[in-house]
Amino acid sequence: MAVLVIADRDGNTVRDTTHKTVTAALALSGDVDVLIIGQGSKAAADAAAKIAGVRKVLLAESAGLGHQLAEAVEQTVVGLAGGYDAILSPATTDGKNFMPRIAAKLDVAPISDIVEVVSADTFVRPIYAGNALETIQSSDGKKVITVRPTTFAAAAEGGSAPVETVAGADAGKTAFVNEEMVKSDRPELGAAKIVVSGGRALGSAEEFHAVMDPLADKLGAAVGASRAAVDAGYAPNDYQVGQTGKVVAPALYIAIGISGAIQHLAGMKDSKIIVAINKDADAPIFQVADFGWVADYKTAVPELMKALG
Ligand code: FAD
Repeated sequence: MAVLVIADRDGNTVRDTTHKTVTAALALSGDVDVLIIGQGSKAAADAAAKIAGVRKVLLAESAGLGHQLAEAVEQTVVGLAGGYDAILSPATTDGKNFMPRIAAKLDVAPISDIVEVVSADTFVRPIYAGNALETIQSSDGKKVITVRPTTFAAAAEGGSAPVETVAGADAGKTAFVNEEMVKSDRPELGAAKIVVSGGRALGSAEEFHAVMDPLADKLGAAVGASRAAVDAGYAPNDYQVGQTGKVVAPALYIAIGISGAIQHLAGMKDSKIIVAINKDADAPIFQVADFGWVADYKTAVPELMKALG
């Protein structure tokens, strides 16, 4: 059985999510290749070649692939699919964009967001916003799978796989127009070891940033938010944690003024230590919190800042 992992890359490197997807792939087979899609991505291919357990790295480049356009990625991957029994990608925004298209073109059912590989055709994935886990068996000849990276350990460095150039498709009728990137010195939300998240209780964008930013800077943390805080315009869209936002599993998650709706818990309940500050002792967030502080954040956060020195 041969497995192709579509890498999640960041400029000249591959993200941790790729290493975690390689771990899932290695649970399926010892023959794991990594595909780097992009433009001017040789350095990322060289970085992927160092992941332990990778048999070979394929490098596909074109203008369309530079921006991960789904049409170009799909054509490239479908062109390579003949040599593989399974195609895996991390369940990132990009992966969720192109993997269903790849599955449709291959006429197979995509298997999304797996958290465990039981065997070559059986996988575990969350359903109902993470409230239940289902074990599914796929009879498709070729598996197209997205992997929830937070549940797999990252494959180690130490490999020295060869890099092979393959044809990269163009995007056809689709054209890249522009992208707006948020620039931040803080760690990326999905990969941060500490996340501090604010909810509707913060009441305004000014208050959200006045409270959350200094705390995040003190802890070297990423800032997250509930959907209510995002919808109200207190925090940018890419801060959202939860079912329809990012799934995070940091070592420490601090929820401030967040009630703990199931859709929010779906994005953070696998965090190692959860701390909740909420003035309502009955807030559901306390059911998953390791440490709960029933208090008004207006007094609790300054006290916490003082204690942190
Ligand atoms: P609220 O539920 O209003 O809670 C505010 C909390 O702050 C309360 O518990 C209150 O006691 C506390 N509080 C108030 N004042 C203070 C104070 N001064 N000090 C301390 N505590 C205070 N939500 C997400 O977060 N992420 C998602 O991805 C997501 N996806 C969704 C998808 C669907 C299909 C649906 C239907 C909903 C989704 N939601 C999601 C929304 C979710 O159901 C909740 O509405 C949302 O999480 C509530 O956000 P909140 O906890 O900030 O606000």
